[in-house]
Amino acid sequence: MKHTIPFNKPFLTGKEVQYIIDAVESGKISGNGKYTQLCHEFFEKKFNVNKVLLTTSCTDGLEMSAMLANIEPGDEVIIPSYTFVSTALPFVRQGAKVIFADSNLENPNIDVNLIEELITPKTKAIVPVHYAGIACEMSRIMNIAKKNNLVVIEDAAQAIDSYYRGTALGTIGDLGSFSFHETKNIISGEGGLLTVNNTDFIKRAEIIWEKGTNRAEFFRGEVNKYGWVDIGSSFLPSEIISSFLFAQFENIDLIQEKRKKLWNLYRENLEELRADGRIMLPHIPDFATNNAHMFYIVCSTLEERTQLINYLKEEGIMSVFHYLSLHKSEYYHQYYDGKELPNSDHYTDCLLRLPLYYDLTIENVEFITEKIIEFYKR
Ligand SMILES: *Cc1c(COP(=O)(O)O)cnc(C)c1O
Repeated sequence: MKHTIPFNKPFLTGKEVQYIIDAVESGKISGNGKYTQLCHEFFEKKFNVNKVLLTTSCTDGLEMSAMLANIEPGDEVIIPSYTFVSTALPFVRQGAKVIFADSNLENPNIDVNLIEELITPKTKAIVPVHYAGIACEMSRIMNIAKKNNLVVIEDAAQAIDSYYRGTALGTIGDLGSFSFHETKNIISGEGGLLTVNNTDFIKRAEIIWEKGTNRAEFFRGEVNKYGWVDIGSSFLPSEIISSFLFAQFENIDLIQEKRKKLWNLYRENLEELRADGRIMLPHIPDFATNNAHMFYIVCSTLEERTQLINYLKEEGIMSVFHYLSLHKSEYYHQYYDGKELPNSDHYTDCLLRLPLYYDLTIENVEFITEKIIEFYKR
């Protein structure tokens, strides 16, 4: 039987179970305990953030953000169409209308040149997504937001340990949200983290995090009893999740180094196809870094991509396409005004993700790239 190379394989550093046992044996397994604190301290220090809160997913971090930004029915929020549903969902749930912007020609990030024409008196927020962990043009986005009094919420789900002109992604906008879903670089099964960069939001973020109560203040001894003070939900993960996550955090440099090595090999081996104009490879602007979250290629047509997926599958290589543009989704259909977003559609049809995970080997990447070159040289 032929050996198969899966698209993704979660990597365990070895300490996850040990830390879970420690958490369980300590007798404290609900949220905001020792491991949650360790995760918070680690992330705040490593990425130079004011305040972070672990959440049960990136989606939850974005939901907290939508609540914090006071998104209400009638508001408009600008997001790219080529993204995961979670970028839109929290705002739609608050009753807002999402306004879709097209992607760049060079990469799937939001085309900053298109943002200003989408702003109306109803616009309340911009949600840039750092696709594949590659930074959006943040200084321009921040300037547009400042000029128009908008909140910037970074969907940094894929962007851990990646930077915009030296500043960590997710720490530039008013709020940022990361994912630790098992398909991301750093994982806890399901999991996420909210960064509260605008200090005005810190107090309320803690309250929304813990069911609308001022429990955090109570535990710091700032008030002598706690109770219901605002809206909120239960956004904090248990210590079983945060203990697992802390083991991953401790090994972030090891994980990143390996992923980057594999990523660079993909890039190097596929350069000849790019130079021949057969495929497009990820474009990393001067202001951005690469965190090796994802390696993708962009084919010329949908048919070509489908054939390539099948060709690789025959060789035991699992490659996958990515987002279906949200402006063409079944749910959004009822609101869609028919405006074309050609770059977003192009990525929907032609972008192909290749296997990338810690346990992938150099030999695997050599084999995969060899097969891709073979496909194009047939
Ligand atoms: C993975 C991902 C999410 C969702 O993350 P969860 O932790 O699963 O909620 C949101 N946005 C983007 C861009 C993602 O890649």
